[in-house]
Amino acid sequence: MEDSKPSKNKKRCSFCGRPESEVSFLITGMNGYICDSCATQAYEITQEAMGAGKQSGAGKPLNLKDLPKPIDIKSFLDQYVIGQDDAKRYLSVSVYNHYKRLLQKDSGDDVEIEKSNIIMVGSTGTGKTLLARTIAKLLHVPFTIVDATVLTEAGYVGEDIESILTRLLQVADYNVSEAERGIVFIDEIDKIARKGDNPSITRDVSGEGVQQGLLKLLEGAVVNVPPQGGRKHPDQKMIPVNTKNILFICGGAFDGIEKKIAQRLNTHVVGYSASKATAVIDKKNMMQYIAPQDLKSFGLIPEIIGRLPVLTYLNPLDRTALRAILTEPKNSIIKQYVKLFEMDNIKLTFEEEVFDYIVDKAVEYKLGARGLRSIVETIITDVMFEIPSQGKTEYNVTLEYSKHQLEKANIARLQTA
Ligand code: ADP
Repeated sequence: MEDSKPSKNKKRCSFCGRPESEVSFLITGMNGYICDSCATQAYEITQEAMGAGKQSGAGKPLNLKDLPKPIDIKSFLDQYVIGQDDAKRYLSVSVYNHYKRLLQKDSGDDVEIEKSNIIMVGSTGTGKTLLARTIAKLLHVPFTIVDATVLTEAGYVGEDIESILTRLLQVADYNVSEAERGIVFIDEIDKIARKGDNPSITRDVSGEGVQQGLLKLLEGAVVNVPPQGGRKHPDQKMIPVNTKNILFICGGAFDGIEKKIAQRLNTHVVGYSASKATAVIDKKNMMQYIAPQDLKSFGLIPEIIGRLPVLTYLNPLDRTALRAILTEPKNSIIKQYVKLFEMDNIKLTFEEEVFDYIVDKAVEYKLGARGLRSIVETIITDVMFEIPSQGKTEYNVTLEYSKHQLEKANIARLQTA
């Protein structure tokens, strides 16, 4: 054991005393060395100490007077998201109430405002994530978006439920008390639904067990969160986080739920008021009639549904909405391209008919709002390739050129995008 003998020439960690040969690497300082594992430990201790320090400071104080009111929140959302008024109103109120609840904690009376987690249901590409991202811009509390598809029960490959809170801790700079006031958007919540109504038919790896785990978070519990997330760091020290005051907003496409809604409405309208009830059903947009029992038929367990008391929906995007999405939002697709060209000092313009043509194609090929970008990209890629080297100062995209480009590109290819 030659290494363990102290030797004057041998480099050793000044903290644990291990020689260079026994550690992965040594960092050299002015008067000593630190090994990789001592450096990691030192980092963790610092993080913990700083976290504890911040906790006593309790972050930035919220002041109801200075916070945006629901109407302000909604009009902010209006600048970026087209339509979806119902979802916007629910979101605005929930976020505002979340603030109030955080403030109310200190008031000391017996009335305790419970949180109202939200669930938004709407087909893919109708703006759920966009709403969440937009609201994040004006929030005064930590916010993160996580994807439920990566969740599995412990023991299977994937992430444990607790890792939902890892990102929140990270955005709160590992300040636990700040994270405990945060908002988490769980995207694709429908992916953890039980497959089929009968839980006993098959063992369902990704379904009910994950929902049970999630339930714990929604209800409010102290959970041990892996600060680095995932399973890649088995030695990491868990951080306990209380989810009692964390607001959860869930979103999901719930593909096929319209059928469940229709079935329920049909069974309900059998009876003396049937003719009256069927007369008002708008079959093109069944989503607007969504009720908690439809989520149950889809495979969410009743306990989870009970913990998501605010249920709202997003409308399918019609032609008018798609047309508006193209040009109206503050950072609309067209505005983004105009800006890209501006950076080369080129004024990009479009013939008005081009916009209708793009929308026509998006509708025809069922590409939705996401397809709008692909279509615009297909139309102007050649221009973007050539124009920066041509020294031009303006470019007008004509209808004729757009048709030519899309036909050349074979638009059907975009359908799988
Ligand atoms: P999802 O409902 O699947 O979460 P997203 O919010 O990710 O859909 O929407 C995909 C893209 O489509 C957005 O980035 C945005 O460009 C556009 N989009 C969808 N819905 C809207 C909307 N209501 N207003 C403005 N843009 C929208």
